[in-house]
Amino acid sequence: MKSFPIVILGGGVVAGYAAKEFVAQSGKSGELAIVTAENALPYERPPLSKGFLAGKEEASDLLISDAAFYRKHGIAVFRNFLVRKVDFRRRRLQSSSGKVIGFDQLLIATGSTVRRLKVPGANRSGLFYLRQMKDSQAIREQIKRGKRAVVIGSGFIGMEVASVLASHGVRTTMVFPDDQVWKRLFTPPVSTFFEHQFVNRGITFMKSEKVVALTRKNHECQVVLASGNQVPTDFVVAGIGVTPSMELFHRTPLDTDGGIKVNKFLETSVPGVWAAGDIANYPDPIFHRRMRVEHWDNAVEQGRVAMRNLMGKLQPFIHVPYFFSDVFDLSYEFWGDATGYDQVVYRGNMYEKQFSVWWLKKQTLCAALVMNRPEEERAVVPRWILQHSRLNPKALQNTRNLKSLDTTFGRPG
Ligand SMILES: Cc1cc2nc3c(=O)[nH]c(=O)nc-3n(C[C@H](O)[C@H](O)[C@H](O)COP(=O)(O)OP(=O)(O)OC[C@H]3O[C@@H](n4cnc5c(N)ncnc54)[C@H](O)[C@@H]3O)c2cc1C
Repeated sequence: MKSFPIVILGGGVVAGYAAKEFVAQSGKSGELAIVTAENALPYERPPLSKGFLAGKEEASDLLISDAAFYRKHGIAVFRNFLVRKVDFRRRRLQSSSGKVIGFDQLLIATGSTVRRLKVPGANRSGLFYLRQMKDSQAIREQIKRGKRAVVIGSGFIGMEVASVLASHGVRTTMVFPDDQVWKRLFTPPVSTFFEHQFVNRGITFMKSEKVVALTRKNHECQVVLASGNQVPTDFVVAGIGVTPSMELFHRTPLDTDGGIKVNKFLETSVPGVWAAGDIANYPDPIFHRRMRVEHWDNAVEQGRVAMRNLMGKLQPFIHVPYFFSDVFDLSYEFWGDATGYDQVVYRGNMYEKQFSVWWLKKQTLCAALVMNRPEEERAVVPRWILQHSRLNPKALQNTRNLKSLDTTFGRPG
């Protein structure tokens, strides 16, 4: 049995950045191993629905570090190693083929698994999901062959995939149960903005629609909707959300709650076992509640902090949640958590595709979305969220120079 002082379970974004941190912290050759079910070194996932899907990037462009990096620093990467069991008592991982790897300390980073469509016909060919490189490669092949596509879901995966398909001349229909795109996150004006952009580029929306079946005749697929509508298509991509990859951790000593519960240092209830990325349910000191964030930046930062901590640094994870997305030629960024907001302020001009949206809760900034705005707007957002800045909504809307804004508005004393 091979055994390592540190093992990372899962070879995704957390693993890639935690390995870099291991090297930055002068970790020794032979002391770290990464175990992954995929047949790839840790790679960046965001391009799978952007540049890689569009054929602008290749597999090697996505690697977080190349093979020479792992060789040079003596980091073992076990690929195609699907872990079937974690024995926390004997501190071992066991693969589906019976291989065993031992660990002193374990960093769990198994990420997320796509939600699958559960309707008749969903097991037929022609339905695609997007989580791994091979999924993106398969959809890329469809883009070359297919003329029509249906994208199910209007979250960021659905929106990004639809924009790449339409940019490649695929006639794309988006089907989703809500009455506006990405309703969970966007305010109605922001959804309307994006819907205009999509419609102007040839995408058809079928809103407030639920898929009830997929049927297939010859080479044509029909997406059957609850309303009775049917959409003929060459292929279907479902972007209907993800769930944390928890199957290994039920009935184990780990505390779980929708994800693996960790303390402020990202250590689980089992000493020497840590968790980071999509899987980690952590106590957030900014919003004063437990969170689980399914975004790249969170995986990068938690990967770094968890590695530093398990190497003996012990620093708490304090970070404003952040993500970015690209659709067509539009890029935007989002910080914070809008849960419980009671007011929204807009700056800029949507017609000119440069605007920002500020979510306030009791006049305290809790989240913001920024697209094509001056750098100072990007810069103040995370700082103000971290500092629980209180803002006068009128002043926020009208002030040109944000730096001059009072960030203690209405604060007593
Ligand atoms: C298509 C796509 C586009 C995205 N775009 C954006 C974006 O624009 N902006 C943004 O902020 N975020 C984006 N994300 C989200 C971001 O990529 C994730 O939050 C991030 O990858 C999470 O990192 P992780 O290491 O926790 O999990 P992952 O990167 O998913 O890695 C998990 C790894 O664990 C492995 N694994 C799981 N179970 C086992 C097991 N039993 N045995 C062995 N290995 C196992 C998996 O094979 C995988 O290699 C995107 C995600 C996808 C899929």
